Amino acid sequence: MSPPALALLGLAAGGPEAEREEEAALYFSGNRLLPGSEPAAHCYCGHQFGSFAGQLGDGAAIYLGEVRGPSGARWELQLKGAGITPFSRQADGRKVLRSSIREFLCSEAMFHLGIPTTRAGTCVTSDSEVVRDVFYDGNPKKERCTVVLRIASTFIRFGSFEIFKPPDEYTGRKGPSVGRNDIRIQMLDYVIGTFYPEIQEAHADNSIQRNAAFFKEITKRTARLVAEWQCVGFCHGVLNTDNMSIVGLTIDYGPFGFMDRYDPEHICNGSDNMGRYAYNKQPEICKWNLGKLAEALVPELPLEISELILEEEYDAEFEKHYLQKMRKKLGLIQLELEEDSKLVSELLETMHLTDTDPSRLEDFLEKLMSQCASVEELRVAFKPQMDPRQLSMMLMLAQSNPQLFALIGTKANINKELERIEQFSKLQQLTAADLLSRNKRHWTEWLEKYRGRLQKEIESISDVDGWNTERVKVMNSNNPKYVLRNYIAQNAIEAAENGDFSEVRKVLKLLENPFQETEDSTEVDAKEEEATAASAACA
Ligand code: AMP
Ligand code: MG
Ligand code: MG
Repeated sequence: MSPPALALLGLAAGGPEAEREEEAALYFSGNRLLPGSEPAAHCYCGHQFGSFAGQLGDGAAIYLGEVRGPSGARWELQLKGAGITPFSRQADGRKVLRSSIREFLCSEAMFHLGIPTTRAGTCVTSDSEVVRDVFYDGNPKKERCTVVLRIASTFIRFGSFEIFKPPDEYTGRKGPSVGRNDIRIQMLDYVIGTFYPEIQEAHADNSIQRNAAFFKEITKRTARLVAEWQCVGFCHGVLNTDNMSIVGLTIDYGPFGFMDRYDPEHICNGSDNMGRYAYNKQPEICKWNLGKLAEALVPELPLEISELILEEEYDAEFEKHYLQKMRKKLGLIQLELEEDSKLVSELLETMHLTDTDPSRLEDFLEKLMSQCASVEELRVAFKPQMDPRQLSMMLMLAQSNPQLFALIGTKANINKELERIEQFSKLQQLTAADLLSRNKRHWTEWLEKYRGRLQKEIESISDVDGWNTERVKVMNSNNPKYVLRNYIAQNAIEAAENGDFSEVRKVLKLLENPFQETEDSTEVDAKEEEATAASAACA
């Protein structure tokens, strides 16, 4: 259970925990209906990997209704993975423990990072099993059916508007929604009236102006959302139009990943062979998706208007928000200079060249800036996080061990890792000292520029101490100490698969305060240090 998410619904913690959990499990597994609830399934279309896929959702989530919470806000509730819906097609509508824990933990993690997202209230597992993957030895892997309670102001997506497209030869779509402009208009009125009431009010007598204002707002929200992802190293993995929220939330946690080393071309989805949803493609892909939403709003919003809005607003809003956030991460709080954008891109280049972990940037900079870093410390900081020798051993093992293979993922992932190792071996022909001096040079060059930029801040103020205190505060609250790394989620999942849910609870607790060190965090710190020490040992 996530108490802060359940509190949105007025479900406060109280009474014995075990009893509360038992009752919650009854309702949030879908075995008992909440009073007043009228379950339904939301049918939508989408462009998947660039092509219109016709009706594809929602075969896995059941809408329970809406609740007005104690703050007066209204929330939609959904059970994801509770079984078949009218739109499940040949599938079973179930979700398994592994994917549910990932969605549960990451929804809450993103919220606590301050990034707009759907929430997760509970994660209930059961003894019923389904088969998802088959091992390479031909044995099916049984996994426990699991249900996540999702909470959001709305789950309507871009793809929800695409369902009303006229029939087309390509998909041969039929069905009650195809070509139903009247319902599409009703839904647009509903979306704007309910989730954008200021826009509805301001343009009540001119629907084109109203629709344009709405499109402008969702364009800007989406641009800011992606900027937030980029700043924290989050890769969504499946940015199809059906996974784009109409109110600008992160929605649908599937093969997502936080980068451990800065790699702009990082692909977290093993089936994304073309890298369509690679980390550095996310901004342009979301813009493309907005273009598809624009098409689905014709004729209520003519394309000439929406295209102009998209061109005028999206890139500008993205750049602005991204740069503001990066300035905060770097503690540039006094001035906004044009040169900052170059400073940031050179920083990213340096991080890429030296395999820096984006989530550890602050510690890293601190260490370097303090000038007291010993050679040994630098060696630790400069090395890629995973020991390549460990990795290649693991990959070789994986090829002969189906269980490990399933854990690591697809062939594409393995090949990518093997390539990386090869590159690294080339690097290893350099001596450790060469490597160190290479990385050190990259960093000293960039740090010189950073120092120069900080100096400009100092020259523009009188109270240097006050500035410094504020700068550190801003940096601390914009550089998360903890993000949901894959291996952290994986550890929690493995424990849960063996019946021990304490690790999931512990990780959830940690992610509730991603910017602070807490008592619970020491264990994760120790694990991270172990990983770094292993890398250092190989230097
Ligand atoms: P995704 O690629 O995760 O966005 O999923 C796209 C759509 O596939 C969902 O909206 C569901 O309708 C459908 N889907 C995914 N998993 C299942 C499942 N286990 N059973 C039925 N439908 C599913
Ligand atoms: Mg989806
Ligand atoms: Mg999904």
